[in-house]
Amino acid sequence: MKKIAVIPGDGIGPEVIGATLDVLKKVAPGAFEFEEVAMGGNAIDKYGEPLPAESLKICQNADATLLGAVGGPKWDNVPPEIRPERGLLGVRKGLKVFANIRPAKIFAPLASACPLRKDIAEKGIDFIIVRELTGGIYFGKHEAFTTPDGEKAARDVMEYTEHEIRRIAHVGFKMAMNRRKIVTSVDKANILTSSRLWREVVEDVAKEYPEVKLNHLYVDNASMQLIRVPNEFDVIVTENTFGDILSDEASQIVGSIGMIPSASLGDNNRGLYEPIHGSAPDIAGQDKANPIGTILCGAMMLRYSFGMMSEADRIEKAVDDVLKAGLRTPDIFTEGTTLITGSKMRDEIISRL
Ligand code: NAD
Repeated sequence: MKKIAVIPGDGIGPEVIGATLDVLKKVAPGAFEFEEVAMGGNAIDKYGEPLPAESLKICQNADATLLGAVGGPKWDNVPPEIRPERGLLGVRKGLKVFANIRPAKIFAPLASACPLRKDIAEKGIDFIIVRELTGGIYFGKHEAFTTPDGEKAARDVMEYTEHEIRRIAHVGFKMAMNRRKIVTSVDKANILTSSRLWREVVEDVAKEYPEVKLNHLYVDNASMQLIRVPNEFDVIVTENTFGDILSDEASQIVGSIGMIPSASLGDNNRGLYEPIHGSAPDIAGQDKANPIGTILCGAMMLRYSFGMMSEADRIEKAVDDVLKAGLRTPDIFTEGTTLITGSKMRDEIISRL
């Protein structure tokens, strides 16, 4: 039996997590043991800190962790060291995850939600961004200082070791082997020394995957090509900051924030799975939250952590079928479709499994 640590979190977190647990129980009855963990604002209220040591321990001992969302206005003014987001960083660090995987896939029935030209959207969009999560500028030396002329200045260092690049490149190539076998490595090797090392190491790793076609793109060009020819991408591998920006661009290409899952993986299969949206306090408790992003996290967890490919496929197909039937939560509602609540969306997906 697989042990799953479950962090419902705050706001709509418990709603979307509840729906996902129901889906998992239906798709593989008796296969999972769930342990609920306090994290975020609710943990601040109860324990005075966003990520109690016991919560982290449960996640570390589980086979995978499923997270809703944390935070909300109630905790906006707590001291920075105990803000709910600290809990997020703490759990990512504690689980030693270094690869963030974000699929960008357009479900055919939602093609009209794509802001790109119809002829571009119609070619289909289905790629994955593999973003390095623990290096680069965000984790390099940060420094504010004064120049000899007395002017204020600041610097942030972008630093990567060969090991960090090698392990994320392997994640990308392995993903590509199970997909269309194309890796696009994104860097800025015409200017940055760290990018030149990135390119050199990625090319070296590519030799171990002779079936995979490797392309390189500068990040500025990649941001253009993503909206010009998104259908040409399969797996994009890139460093932390470039990945942060490109994955937000990709999320807009495929529509609502409520639809997109993500996974963060480390050296073992114990991933952290979370939708890309936040706790949406504006709609919390109103049964308006779209649970699909989190339900698709469940599918990713089955695929990447547990190797349960057919169950993952079944979940994704059920989501597709519900959308094909024209059922929509408010965030993806358009004229001519049927407006339903978040819990009805859950029921409709479960009935199609
Ligand atoms: P948000 O993602 O919570 O909401 C942005 C907008 O998208 C809102 O209008 C919201 O109603 C809508 N939305 C989000 N998820 C939805 C869903 N599943 N279905 C339908 N609509 C959905 O971002 P925000 O408003 O900037 O942040 C709210 C809180 O969440 C803040 O406290 C922020 O710090 C926190 N946050 C947490 C995470 C996380 O836990 N990973 C990520 C981002 C923001």
